[in-house]
Amino acid sequence: MSTATPLDDALTQLGEAVALLGHDEGLHHMLATPRREVTVSIPLRRDDGRTELLIGHRVQHNFSRGPAKGGLRYSPDVTLDEVRALAMWMTWKCALLDVPYGGAKGGVRIDPTLYSTAELERVTRRYTSEISPLLGPERDIPAPDVGTDETTMAWMMDTFSVQKGHTVLGVATGKPIELGGSRGRATATSRGVVHVALAALRTRGLKPRTANAAVQGFGKVGRHVARFLADEAVRVVAVSDQHGAVAEEGGLDVDALAAHVGATGSVLGFAGGSAVDHDTVLEADVDLLVPAAVEGVLHGDNAHRIRARIVVEGANGPTTPEADAVLRENDQLVVPDILANAGGVIVSYFEWVQANQAYWWSEAEVEARLAERMLAAWDAVGSHAVRLDVSLRTAATCLAVDRVARAHQIRGLYP
Ligand code: NAD
Repeated sequence: MSTATPLDDALTQLGEAVALLGHDEGLHHMLATPRREVTVSIPLRRDDGRTELLIGHRVQHNFSRGPAKGGLRYSPDVTLDEVRALAMWMTWKCALLDVPYGGAKGGVRIDPTLYSTAELERVTRRYTSEISPLLGPERDIPAPDVGTDETTMAWMMDTFSVQKGHTVLGVATGKPIELGGSRGRATATSRGVVHVALAALRTRGLKPRTANAAVQGFGKVGRHVARFLADEAVRVVAVSDQHGAVAEEGGLDVDALAAHVGATGSVLGFAGGSAVDHDTVLEADVDLLVPAAVEGVLHGDNAHRIRARIVVEGANGPTTPEADAVLRENDQLVVPDILANAGGVIVSYFEWVQANQAYWWSEAEVEARLAERMLAAWDAVGSHAVRLDVSLRTAATCLAVDRVARAHQIRGLYP
C-alpha cells in the first residue's frame, strides 16, 4: 500500500506539468510552495463547561491572479499537508476556469457530528476571529467543504462583519440566500459534475438513457449528483456514504434515498436497495463512477479492480497518480477534479460578484453562465489533451499552471 499523501500527489501532478511546460526550477519551487499559511489554536467551551483545544489551519497557496479562494473543512482527518494540497488544487481550478482568484483552503481537526450546533458556532467564530487578518473580499474568501455548510458561512460572515463594524457580504460564499448567497450555489458543484459527466458519456458514444452510474459520498456534492443523473435518466445503481453502501441493479430511487438520509443521517437501512460493502460501489461495473467523498480512494492497490468506463471526480484528489496511470492504460477516461468539480467555485465567484455589486441574478442566469463556463473548459481541456497526447488531468494541470506562471512572469518579482 502506497504511503503517498494528497500533498505528494499534488506535487507529482505539478512536477509533471512543469516538466512538460519547460518552466525553470525557481518557478517550480514558487508554485510548489504556499504563499502564506497559519495554524491557530481554538479553545472551545463545551456545553458541559469543560474546555477543549482544537487546531485549525488556513493555507493561501497562491494569489498572483486575485484574492485567495477555497473551502473550509471540518474533519478529524485534517492535517496541514492535506490543507496544503487542497489549496494548491484550488489555485489550478481557479486558473483553469479563468475565475480571477488564487487558491486557498482551511481546515479544523474536528468531527462535527460529535458537537452540538452551539459548540460548532463557537468553534467557527473563534477560528474566523483567529484568521481574520487574512480574510476579506479582496484577500481570501472561504466557502463550504466537507463537514461545513451555509450556516458555517453565515457565522463566518457575521463574525468578520462584527469585527469590521459593518456587513461584508463578499467575505464568504456558499452563504444562505437571505444573507447574500447566490441562487444555484448549493447545487452548483453537482450541476457542474453532471455537465461534464454527460459530455464525457457523449465522447464515449454512451447515451444517458442506457447508462448507469455509481456515486461514492452522499453529502452536499454526491447527493445532488445522484439526483441530477437520475433526472437525465441515468440509472444510479450504487451509492455509499461513510457509514455504509446500497445498490440496486434496476436503479435506486434517489429522491427516496435522499429522504431516508435526511431522516436517518445515512444510506444504511434504505429499503429500496441491498446493503453492500464500500468496495462494491467503487468497483461496480458501470459506465460512470463519481467519487464525491474524500481523497485517495482510487489508488495503486484497487485501480486494477475499477471497472467504470468513465470516472468523473466530484471529490478533490480521489485518484492517486498510480491509479491514474492504471486507468489510462486501460482506456478508462478520468475527468479530473480541477475541471469536474469546478462548478462550486464558478458560482462562488458569481456570488462574490453579486455581493460586491449588491445586485442579484435569477437562477436561470446563474445556471446558464455556469453551464457555459463548464462546457468551455471541457472543450479546452479535451482539445489540449489531444494536442499534447496526454490525459485530461495532465492537460488541465498544464493549462492552469501555465496561466499562473504567466501571471508571475508578467507581475515580475518584488523587489
Ligand atoms: P460533505 O461533508 O457534504 O459530504 C461528504 C460525504 O462523503 C458524506 O456523505 C460522507 O458520509 C461521505 N464519506 C466520507 N468518507 C467516506 C468514505 N470513506 N466512503 C464513502 N463515503 C464517505 O462534503 P461535500 O461538500 O459533499 O464534499 C465532498 C467532496 O467534494 C470533497 O472532496 C470536497 O473537497 C469536494 N468538493 C466540494 C465542493 C462543494 O461545493 N461542497 C466543491 C468542490 C469539491
